[in-house]
Amino acid sequence: VAGGGVGAIETVLALRALAGHTVAIDLVAPGDEFIYRPLVVTEPFGYAPALRLPLARLADTHDVRVHRAALEAVLPAEKSIRLSGATTLSYDYLVVAVGGRGKPWLPGALTFTGAPDGVDAYRALLDELEAGDVSRLLFAVPPGAAWALPTYELALLTAAWEPEHGVIGAELAFATPEQRPLEVFGLAAARAVSDLFGDRGIALHCGAAVASFSGERVELTDGIHIEADRVVTLPQVGANPVDGLPQDDRGFIPIDDYAAVLGLEDVWAVGDATSFPIKQGGLATQQADAAAAAVAERLGAAAQAEPFAPVMRGLLLTGVTSAYLRADLGNGSGAAKGEAAFNSLWWPPSKIAGRYLAPYLAGQSDLAGVPELHDRAPAGIDERARVAHEEQRRLALELADADANWGDHRSALRWLQTVEWLDGALGPELADRRARWEAELRQSR
Ligand SMILES: Cc1cc2nc3c(=O)[nH]c(=O)nc-3n(C[C@H](O)[C@H](O)[C@H](O)COP(=O)(O)OP(=O)(O)OC[C@H]3O[C@@H](n4cnc5c(N)ncnc54)[C@H](O)[C@@H]3O)c2cc1C
Repeated sequence: VAGGGVGAIETVLALRALAGHTVAIDLVAPGDEFIYRPLVVTEPFGYAPALRLPLARLADTHDVRVHRAALEAVLPAEKSIRLSGATTLSYDYLVVAVGGRGKPWLPGALTFTGAPDGVDAYRALLDELEAGDVSRLLFAVPPGAAWALPTYELALLTAAWEPEHGVIGAELAFATPEQRPLEVFGLAAARAVSDLFGDRGIALHCGAAVASFSGERVELTDGIHIEADRVVTLPQVGANPVDGLPQDDRGFIPIDDYAAVLGLEDVWAVGDATSFPIKQGGLATQQADAAAAAVAERLGAAAQAEPFAPVMRGLLLTGVTSAYLRADLGNGSGAAKGEAAFNSLWWPPSKIAGRYLAPYLAGQSDLAGVPELHDRAPAGIDERARVAHEEQRRLALELADADANWGDHRSALRWLQTVEWLDGALGPELADRRARWEAELRQSR
């Protein structure tokens, strides 16, 4: 397995679940940890830091040999790969999950890559808002956006942050080439997001991307101008080409419905590196499950290769109650059926709803008995669902505080984990509380 991100880890977990220990797994990745990028958008606002999983932990729990190197070339005729450092490794089956390359696309804009410097730059922008040096902010979804949701989250989290920091009168605007907000999730999500934007006073412009930014003014592709001191956007996802693999006209790896690489034997590719147009963690895991099932079947395990059926699950962090969005993409021709709710539509309610990844990561906090990922019936966006969510949250917090008062910090931390699941992320005040209780627990040992 080449890669150390979402698709690679899901492949490893799925392979072990489906094929047991009949297979030796090598993982090739340049870094030594997996960073849970979807939660990085909350870091500038002081939320709990995004989870970082050392790959050594996966090596221990799932019997994987980790090579700290980059895949440079695939040599299909020899069934081997060439790694940085000029070593080679042979394979029977190869799964490529090397991700994409984030490319800045708008000169003058703050491009939030999810890397630490992007988090620092966004913190500096919040300081400027607080000091009154910046008062007009535009959030721009990149053209041809492969995954628009984090841009919406930055806008909503900023709008929720402002009143808490005494920022009054700042103008927030949002531009997207989509015809409706979060279009891929269908009408229910579009309505939910429009309502949230209305409530927070964010001006929404759909159907046009940003064409240019002068430093004071933005021009949209439909000719509209918006005054803005700063523009915030995400990078476009570009290809991360590997020698010896086929590429489409944009450099991405073409795959079939089973995630098998077109024209090659025994090689699969999953995630942002592939030609699938939407670049999203949940989809990467679904492709990884298809690839792992195909490999397990060839290994003679009781697994059956099945095409991946893309289902989008998006947990939108709003700074207040998180929204859960779900859409079946069917044959990829658009959102066939979309749902939106303020109660979790799947369990565990994680940002990246991987069948094996979500329970695995949830289990890292020592919580026993986490079930496999499954979908739940939607309760719709109604007042009852909101109230039920608040009630569960309130109860979990009360139990956490009660346990902490008794000195049972281990149990208190578990209740806090429940709150994190319910909200999708832990806010600044609760993140502090967790750090305090963790310190108390360490001291008591
Ligand atoms: C700010 C932000 C927020 C996001 N929010 C969400 C969200 O809420 N929900 C969601 O589902 N998705 C979200 N995404 C998208 C999601 O993170 C990606 O779609 C997902 O990580 C893709 O998985 P992947 O395995 O293809 O690539 P990645 O997770 O990027 O992993 C690629 C891995 O390959 C490694 N690598 C690179 N080159 C090589 C090489 N030559 N050889 C070996 N290894 C290599 C990298 O080091 C990395 O470990 C977000 C992305 C960003 C940037």
